[in-house]
Amino acid sequence: MIVVMKSGAAPHEIQGVVDRVNELGFRAHLSVGEERTIIGVIGDERPVNESMFRLMDGVEKVVRILKPFKLASRDFHPQDTVVPIDGVSVGGPRVVLIAGPCAVEDREQLMETAYALKEMGVHILRGGAFKPRTSPYSFQGLGERGLELLAEAKAETGLAIVTEAMAPQQVPLVCEVADIVQVGARNMQNFSLLHAVGEAGKPVLLKRGMMATMEELLMAAEYVLSHGNYRVMLCERGIRTFETYTRNTLDISAVPVLKQFTHLPVFIDPSHATGNWEWVTPLARAAVAAGADGLIIEVHPHPDKALSDGAQSLRLDRFAELVEEVRAVAQAVHRTL
Ligand code: PEP
Ligand code: MN
Repeated sequence: MIVVMKSGAAPHEIQGVVDRVNELGFRAHLSVGEERTIIGVIGDERPVNESMFRLMDGVEKVVRILKPFKLASRDFHPQDTVVPIDGVSVGGPRVVLIAGPCAVEDREQLMETAYALKEMGVHILRGGAFKPRTSPYSFQGLGERGLELLAEAKAETGLAIVTEAMAPQQVPLVCEVADIVQVGARNMQNFSLLHAVGEAGKPVLLKRGMMATMEELLMAAEYVLSHGNYRVMLCERGIRTFETYTRNTLDISAVPVLKQFTHLPVFIDPSHATGNWEWVTPLARAAVAAGADGLIIEVHPHPDKALSDGAQSLRLDRFAELVEEVRAVAQAVHRTL
């Protein structure tokens, strides 16, 4: 439930409610808005009688929240969450671009990509060091060596880094290099990993499982938030449907729906959604038109030679075109790039 304070409620009245929440064995989550303060009651508060709060001084109303997610919910936190990443604000008016190869392959590939992206105004470089591959015989990523190369790319270009951790044990190592830790689609409900990234406290890019509902995605985010890490960004990357012409089906409706239900920033990954570079730019435009806070795009200087996901990777010149097209859409929906 949430306790909505009257506009102009006194600090001691707000504190009174927070104390009552704690006395009852729950956690209070405070959201201080321009108009009024909202106090979220965290825990299984179903047995609690609403009048315990409603009759307190300064309280306007008590609202029971039927959705199972709380910290992730807009009811608990009406303002958009803005996550600062190395000087760029994710979740604000600006649409944030993340781009880079599916996997870090070698220094030359990574540096060529990083310098080109920097030139195009990208702020965040992606690149997998630990790769969750469907086949054990496919390239599994360079592991720690991949992280070293990402650190080098960051040092040389100043780009922020997002890279995936596949297991809780990898989280400390990944956090040494990454500005954002990615939790991949296949790990969306790996609860020990969610626990680990929650405790680590680094910003998290949480990708929607390919067979997960939006509610399951929000509950996965709730795990990270409930471990004290509020810097969570969600990513829709395509879900499984009966369609076979695309690798997955991009659920564009996830953008407005998630934006309504949660305050967390929402990214779209049109690369994994389509599996084909030719459809990446049209869907990137659609994502920004629908209100996405950012895009994560796979690019490769030589997609024909890529060790993973070459078919969906944009060449650098084609990515430059995407940036200009997306910029025009961003302006049309009163955002910047
Ligand atoms: C990735 O972004 O590198 C990736 C593996 O994506 P997903 O987890 O969405 O399949
Ligand atoms: Mn990939």
